Amino acid sequence: MARRKLVAGNWKMNGDLAALAELEGIAAAAVAAPGVDVAIAVPATLIAPAAARVPGFTIGAEDVHPADKGAHTGCISVPMIREAGASFSIVGHSERRADCGETDADVRAKAEALLRHGMHAILCVGETLAERDAGQAQAVVTGQLRASFPDGAASGWLSIAYEPVWAIGTGRTPTVEDVAAIHGAIRATLVDLLGDDAQAMRVLYGGSVTAENAASLLGAGDVDGALVGGASLTAAKFVPIIDAGA
Ligand code: PEP
Repeated sequence: MARRKLVAGNWKMNGDLAALAELEGIAAAAVAAPGVDVAIAVPATLIAPAAARVPGFTIGAEDVHPADKGAHTGCISVPMIREAGASFSIVGHSERRADCGETDADVRAKAEALLRHGMHAILCVGETLAERDAGQAQAVVTGQLRASFPDGAASGWLSIAYEPVWAIGTGRTPTVEDVAAIHGAIRATLVDLLGDDAQAMRVLYGGSVTAENAASLLGAGDVDGALVGGASLTAAKFVPIIDAGA
C-alpha cells in the first residue's frame, strides 16, 4: 500500500524565539512539497509562538503527561499543548526513556491521552547498541512496540518511529538493509495488533538523518518518513530532507 510520507523534526531542548525564523523557510518548503507531510515538534515554551509564526504549519510537542490536569509539577497535558497550538506529540523518545525513566506503560498512557483528545502521536521505539550487538534488535523493538502500543490506536492517529538509540545524534546509521528488516518486523507486529489498518500506519526512521543520507533511508523498504533531530534545526539542513521525501 502506498503511504504518504511524513518528515517530522524534533528540536529537543534547542531553539528560542529567534530560531523561529527557521520555521518560515521550513513551512514554505512544506507548501512547495504537497506530496509529503511535514511537522516540527518544539520545546513547550515555543509551541504558541511557533503556531502564531507559521499558521497552517503542523507544530507539535516533544512530550505530554497522561493526565489532563492535576498535581504534576512541571508537566504539561494534552489539552494544554492543544490550546497552545500543537496538533501532535512525540511519546517514548529514547532520551525521555533514559533521562526520565519512562517505561513502556508510561509511553502507552501518554499515547492513549493523545488519542483520547483526537491528537496525533509519534511513538518511538529503538534498541541500544548493546542490544543490537547481542542480536536482540528486532526482539527489543517489537517488544517495546507491543508494550507501549495504545488501546484504540488507528493509522490516522498514530505513527511509529524506529529510532536506534545508538544512531541518535551520533552520525551513525544502520544500513538500508538493517532499517528495512526492522521496519518489516514492525509492520508484521502492527498487522498482528491492528489487522488491515496496519497497512496504512506510517513507520518513520530516525537517527542521524541528514540531507546526504535522506534519499537512501527514505527509500528503504517500509520506511514512510523520517524523525529528524539535529538536522531539523535549520531550514538549510531540513528542507533537503523534506525534498527527499517528496
Ligand atoms: C531524534 O532526536 O529523534 C533524532 C533522530 O536525532 P538526530 O536526527 O539528531 O539523530
